Amino acid sequence: LIELDRAHLIHPVSSYRSHEATGVRVLKSAKGATLTDVSGRQLLDGFAGLWCVNAGYGQDSIVEAATRQLRELPYATGYFGLGSDPAIRLAARLAELAPGDLNHVYFTLGGSDAVDSTIRFIRYYYHAKRTPQKDRFISVESGYHGSSTAGSGLTALPAFHTGFGVPYNWQHKIPSHYAYRNPVGSHPQAIIAASVAALHAKIAELGADRVAAFYVEPIQGSGGVLVPPPSWLKAMHAVCKEHDILFVADEVITGFGRVGPFFACEEDDVMPDLMTTAKGLTSGYVPMGAVLMSDRVYNTIADGAGKTAVGHGYTYSAHPVSAAVGLACLDLYENGLLDNGRKAGHRLMQGLRALADHPLVGDIRGRGMLAAIELVTDKERKTPLPAEADAARRIFDRAWDNGLVIRAFAQGVLGYAPPLCCTDADIDGIIERTRMTLDQTLQ
Ligand code: PMP
Repeated sequence: LIELDRAHLIHPVSSYRSHEATGVRVLKSAKGATLTDVSGRQLLDGFAGLWCVNAGYGQDSIVEAATRQLRELPYATGYFGLGSDPAIRLAARLAELAPGDLNHVYFTLGGSDAVDSTIRFIRYYYHAKRTPQKDRFISVESGYHGSSTAGSGLTALPAFHTGFGVPYNWQHKIPSHYAYRNPVGSHPQAIIAASVAALHAKIAELGADRVAAFYVEPIQGSGGVLVPPPSWLKAMHAVCKEHDILFVADEVITGFGRVGPFFACEEDDVMPDLMTTAKGLTSGYVPMGAVLMSDRVYNTIADGAGKTAVGHGYTYSAHPVSAAVGLACLDLYENGLLDNGRKAGHRLMQGLRALADHPLVGDIRGRGMLAAIELVTDKERKTPLPAEADAARRIFDRAWDNGLVIRAFAQGVLGYAPPLCCTDADIDGIIERTRMTLDQTLQ
C-alpha cells in the first residue's frame, strides 16, 4: 500500500514527496473516537478526521439510514423539478434549526463548493437588484474558506495562494482578531475596536457601493483555532448592516455542535444573510455541504430569475443517501450528542488548561470541542517554534507514536476537535497523550 500510495495517490494539502520516510499510514476501522490502523494499532482521534466526524465512528443509526436509502433510491437529481424524501426533509429540518430566517437550503458536496456557490448566488443577487457593481468580497486574514478556484481567494492563508498564480483582485482582507500576538494587545475591547475600524476602512477604500459581502468564520479553524472576543462577531455584523453588505457566516467547522450549540452564530446572537455548512452535517460518513439562505436573498434571486433558470447546480446536489445520513446525524445530535459534546468540551478545555505550566505551552484557546494550544520556545517572549515545516510534522509523528491523532499546524499550534461522542476516558487519554508528546518534544 505504501508503494502504491507513493506512486499513484495525490494527497490533499501535502508537501509532495516529503513523506518518503514514514510513508502513508493506512487506517482500517474505527469505533467511537478510536481508530485502528492496518497493523491493528489503536489511536484516539483527537481531530474527528478533519474536524468532521462529529457523531463519532460506527454509529449504527447512520449506517442503517444510509443502507436503507441505498437500497430504496440511491440517486435522485434535483434538476427538472425532481427531488427525494430525505433531501426535502433535511432542508426543512435545517431551516428550522438555523438562526433567523435562513429558510432556504442549497445542498453541495462539501464546504468548498458551498462557499463557491455563495459567491455565485451573491453575484446573482446583486444582478437581480440591478447593482452588479457590487463585486468586491472581504474576508479576514488567516481565515479559511475552502480550496475552490474562487473560494480559495477568500481563504487568507498564504499556502493556498503561493504558486497558483490565480488572480484574486476582487477579494480583500482585513487583519485577524488573533489575540495572542495582536499589535493592539490582547484586550477584547481593543481587538473589537481595531477590527471594526479595519472593516470600516476597507469598505471606505473599496467604496460601500462596490462591496458585495463579508465572509467570516465565527471561530477561525485552519488559521490555528482563533477565537474572537465575545461580541466581536456581532460588532462585525453591525458594520455590514450599516453599509448594506451581505454577511456570510462560514460554519463549516463550527456548525453541528462543534462549539456547543447547533451553530456558533446562535451563541453570538448574529443572524447571517447566508451560512455555509458541511462536515458535521453528515459527520464525514458521506460527503455533503449546505448553503443556508435568508428570505431576503432567496426571494431576490428567485424574483430576478424570472423565466430563466439560475444556472448553478451539481449532479450530486441534494444526494438522497447523504441527506438520509444528515437526518440520522441530526437525530443523534438532538438526542444527547450535543449535550455530551458540551460536557466533553468542558473537560477538554479544563484538561488543556492544566497544561498551562508546561514550558512549551504559550497559549490555550478554544470553545466547546474546538481547541488549540500554541507552542513556544520562550513563554515570556512568545517565541514561536522554529518555522521549518518539519517541526509540525515531527510533533504529529510523536503524537501518532503515542496513540493520538491531532492536527499540528505549521506555526506550532496543536489543534483539537474530537468527536462529540467522546467519553471522559477518551478526553483524559487525549490530554495525557498530549502531555507525553510535549515532554518528548522538550527532550
Ligand atoms: N470553510 C471552512 C471554514 C473550512 O474549515 C473548510 C474545510 N476545512 C471549508 C470551508 C472547505 O470545506 P471542504 O474541505 O469540505 O471543501
